[in-house]
Amino acid sequence: MNEKFRQALPIIETLKRHGHEAYFVGGAVRDFLLDRPIGDVDIATSALPQEVISLFPKTVPVGIEHGTVMVIYKGTSYEVTTFRTEGRYEDYRRPAEVTFVRSLEEDLKRRDFTMNAIAMNERGELIDPFGGKAALEKQLIETVGAAAERFSEDALRMMRALRFVSQLGFSLAVDTKQAIEQHGHLLEKIAIERITVEFEKMLCGPFVHQAFPLLIETNLFLYLPGLSEKKEPLAKMSAYQWRRLHDRIEAWALFVYLLDVDPHSFLRKWKLPNHVIRDVSVCLQGLTEIREKDDWTIDRLYRYGQKYMPLIETVRATLKDESAATDELAARLAALPIQERKQLAVNGNDVMAWFGRERGRWIAETLETIERAVLHGEVKNEKEAIKEWLLACNQKQEKNC
Ligand code: ATP
Ligand code: MG
Repeated sequence: MNEKFRQALPIIETLKRHGHEAYFVGGAVRDFLLDRPIGDVDIATSALPQEVISLFPKTVPVGIEHGTVMVIYKGTSYEVTTFRTEGRYEDYRRPAEVTFVRSLEEDLKRRDFTMNAIAMNERGELIDPFGGKAALEKQLIETVGAAAERFSEDALRMMRALRFVSQLGFSLAVDTKQAIEQHGHLLEKIAIERITVEFEKMLCGPFVHQAFPLLIETNLFLYLPGLSEKKEPLAKMSAYQWRRLHDRIEAWALFVYLLDVDPHSFLRKWKLPNHVIRDVSVCLQGLTEIREKDDWTIDRLYRYGQKYMPLIETVRATLKDESAATDELAARLAALPIQERKQLAVNGNDVMAWFGRERGRWIAETLETIERAVLHGEVKNEKEAIKEWLLACNQKQEKNC
């Protein structure tokens, strides 16, 4: 058994000692069987939330209405969820209410895909009533039960199917794929934020080149924010080496660049957080500048700095299918006299004192002039040197007038 499960064993043992059933479930079991790195270890139990709370000293009722209690044990948090079914589904979304049940199998039955419906007990034995292990061996994503029904219950599962294709490189089972083709319109019922979570995981997956064609083949793209008119660029997405990218900002930046859309309005449709929209936009601006001039000048290196340069360079290199020169650029950046404005040896107060003038726009302008001169090595980044240089500049300018 994997170390992560072993660490969580005492939780299962405590529940069992008190007469409850308890199993490892969900993504961790799937990833363990696939020999992939294991994420959060989740536990399903017959104990009711209040019973779970009473058995452990440190708990947080994170989703108690859905039966989930977070148990904090030796510094790690575990979601412990009561066996449940999802009751009535309303409006193709998650059900308004859940019903707690006493059987594991009932709980596994409400899960989305067979590979996600495998439980493992404290001895490492699998409880796999829907053939999840066989699906893993065949590398197939198939719904638990009739696909059409399962996607009608919760349309988000269609997006989850594509993100698992991208994360695992698996194929969609024939009926699962057909049901997606027929039920894509139901995505319109789902909160954008939930779609975005899955879509972003898809964009960042190592097999996203397999997921893009499915977006088109299943027509799901028609129901995604800002994509319904973008069949052509979507069809070309798979030509790029998305695996070269490291994070969500780079993935969204490449996606938006290839779609050729305005980043702000497009990303707002996906309801991404403002800081993500800002970072992607800065990245795209840098990318556009650098691709036009095909050069990282000193000014651009400095402007985009250690925060954005690696992102821009990675996406630039991915677009050109060449290796990123991030290390070399980082060395160039480090060798510049300054890397950011706050390293300047002078500030607005200094400048004001030297000229004895009132506050105004001129201060910012002067600081910009100094910054440029220091950056390009025209003057040393030392207070006295800058003062002398600035006063000399000023005299020259006055003479010119
Ligand atoms: P990851 O490793 O990315 O967390 P995961 O499979 O654990 O993948 P989660 O979103 O954490 O995905 O969900 C945990 C489990 O809950 C899933 O494995 C699945 O059994 C079940 N599940 C999650 N979302 C749904 C859904 N929309 N419908 C049915 N079951 C779901
Ligand atoms: Mg998970």
